[in-house]
Amino acid sequence: MPDTDAILLSALQHWTYCPRQCGLIHLEQAFEDNIHTARGQAVHHLVDTPGYEVKAGVRIERALPLWSDRLGLIGKADLVELHPDGTIFPVEFKHGRKRQKIHDDIQLAAQAVCLEEMLGRPVARGAIYHATSHRRREVAITPELRQQVETTTQAIRSMLSGGVLPPPVTDGRCRECSLKDICQPEAIAASNRLHYERIHLFEEES
Ligand code: SF4
Repeated sequence: MPDTDAILLSALQHWTYCPRQCGLIHLEQAFEDNIHTARGQAVHHLVDTPGYEVKAGVRIERALPLWSDRLGLIGKADLVELHPDGTIFPVEFKHGRKRQKIHDDIQLAAQAVCLEEMLGRPVARGAIYHATSHRRREVAITPELRQQVETTTQAIRSMLSGGVLPPPVTDGRCRECSLKDICQPEAIAASNRLHYERIHLFEEES
């Protein structure tokens, strides 16, 4: 069974989007809803009740608990298809239209890594289901994605044990971020600028 200090699978998605967002949620337990998180929660209501059904010989598990003792990860998969030929296929639900986002792909790859450890069989592919367009985007669980799962998990563990909030990214990501009011990225950037100007105020020009 997973240990109690395990990192949530969602933290990998948060870290890949913005390390500070990950720190605010998983280090400082901050969370604010905005239109994007509200839409995300509405989509997950479709698959947040554990259970299964069988369609055309495929067993479809909903809200399946996942963990990896090796990496110290814990979470759940929205859907996992278990095909008669042994294929294991996780599907993560996201709001919005079909478009590639690396933070979604890493979260899916982390689910695949957990399933492999739990079930002892390879997981070669999965999919992101985009609720707005009702379309699936298939994702190959490549060696590069697996490596990113490992390095991201290490980075999050190091941030959590160090207890230091990462700096703000202060770019387009902040516009869609539900934590903008708590994070105050512009205020921190302005304060950093002021600090820099104070340090260099009395430097002689060469
Ligand atoms: S407001 Fe920007 S810097 Fe702050 S957590 Fe969100 S994305 Fe990261």
